[in-house]
Amino acid sequence: MNAPLNIIMPAEASAAPKTYRLLIDGKHVDARDGRTLERKSPGHGFTVSHYAQAGEAEVEAAMQAAHKAFETGPWPRMKAAERAAILLKTADLIEARLEDIARLDALESGKPIAQARGEIGGAVDIWRYAASLARTLHGESYANLGDAMLGVVLREPIGVVSIITPWNFPFLIVSQKLPFALAAGCTAVVKPSEMTSASTFVLGDILMQAGLPAGVVNILAGLGADVGAPMVGHPLVEMVSFTGSTRVGKMTMASAAQSLKKVSMELGGKNGQIVFPDADLEAAADAAVFGGFFNAGECCNAGSRLIVHEAIADDFLAAVKALASRVIVGDPLDDRTKVGAMISSDHLAKVAGYVAAAASDGSSVYSGGKQLASNAGQYLDPTIIRGVTEDMAIAREEVFGPVLSVLTFESIEKALHIANNTPYGLSAGVWSASIDTCMSVARRVRSGTVWVNTFMEGYPELPFGGYKQSGLGRELGKRAVEDYTEEKTIQFHRGQRTGWWVG
Ligand code: NAD
Repeated sequence: MNAPLNIIMPAEASAAPKTYRLLIDGKHVDARDGRTLERKSPGHGFTVSHYAQAGEAEVEAAMQAAHKAFETGPWPRMKAAERAAILLKTADLIEARLEDIARLDALESGKPIAQARGEIGGAVDIWRYAASLARTLHGESYANLGDAMLGVVLREPIGVVSIITPWNFPFLIVSQKLPFALAAGCTAVVKPSEMTSASTFVLGDILMQAGLPAGVVNILAGLGADVGAPMVGHPLVEMVSFTGSTRVGKMTMASAAQSLKKVSMELGGKNGQIVFPDADLEAAADAAVFGGFFNAGECCNAGSRLIVHEAIADDFLAAVKALASRVIVGDPLDDRTKVGAMISSDHLAKVAGYVAAAASDGSSVYSGGKQLASNAGQYLDPTIIRGVTEDMAIAREEVFGPVLSVLTFESIEKALHIANNTPYGLSAGVWSASIDTCMSVARRVRSGTVWVNTFMEGYPELPFGGYKQSGLGRELGKRAVEDYTEEKTIQFHRGQRTGWWVG
């Protein structure tokens, strides 16, 4: 039996929890009925934050503010260069507060602080990238329609956008959406997860400080049913940008369909890393551990299925197990930690249930599998399950915990079959020294991203999104701003109209 994790209480534990108020029309306000939500640190157990809890009245007020800012405010009408300047200022201000924001995300989500710093740094880069796209967004012109006609296709901001985000990358995910919506000239109502809202409120303050006009971004904390659902159905909203589970994504799409709103959906994943015998096995083993256990496996891109060639399975898995045993699990605020706390005790129980069910389905726990004893918080040992078959729940469903399911193959056809045999299609990895093998897998795997001899790298320049039930549309990349626009075709006729209809 290992010694219990010794979680050290940070200074925040003995200070009063910070209270965050809603941001509506440039003002910080409480909920009309005075309700609040409390967030405890899943890694420490103390209360980190209280948020004013929005309801229907606050959704209505936020929508009216966003609509007014869109219809009559300066934001959609100003020069792209002016919008870009505010996005760049925002990036600078985020960078200046990187440590505070990273600490909030680590405290509220349980993720390791060093990783959180990387995410906020990545977000800064995305805000800067979006600023560059604001200035290069353009439409098309057609001067080939005859001498009397000029066709012009404008890209106009789509309008008010509802942005709904999950808890696993609180600041990074809002930064994959909001700067592009703003670059296009849209206004927005943003709802972070009820478990990790604090850093989004800090972003709201930063945007105001950067000079964003009132009402352009409104931020509501609250529950999915009370706030998220009306944000999707609201008649003033033109587009819904949602990141979260496939289950809620489907409900959101069904609701948005009632008024034919545009949707962008970034949903769940059940991603496979395929390892061939000729790969750099040391690098592949490290990536298997990283893919499985990064962010405690609470990651849409988690490489939760390790698909290994039979010929190397024993030795390779022994190497993976040895590396997994060296992964430091523990206090999210310790710089050395690689796997922090699980988001909630309910979620930990769900993940543990998958592990127990897999064991009774005929697979075996090869490593880990236990909740770790600690003086505070909830932690799960990085877990490897061997002998998993394609029909098991653990091979098909998104477990969303530090659990690596191992499946084996004897041919490339079988490897591809396993990789594609899931309702999801977010990402995949392939490890081989052979360009033929890598290209075959990369071309035939049904997922939005394929990493070849690397795993889970991200760049704002590259589009990201899912095939199948992993989503709809793409974020990031050079078309990210276009997603938040409508196209308007204008036909200019010169001189007297020639093609009379009646005569
Ligand atoms: P979730 O679907 O439970 O919640 C996501 C957001 O939707 C939250 O803000 C929640 O309050 C809100 N919501 C809940 N019910 C709603 C409703 N009826 N109408 C509108 N909004 C509602 O997801 P989660 O547990 O917060 O996050 C984990 C999930 O997110 C995983 O499935 C993960 O794979 C997915 N995810 C996907 C990506 C991606 O880019 N593809 C990235 C991160 C997370």
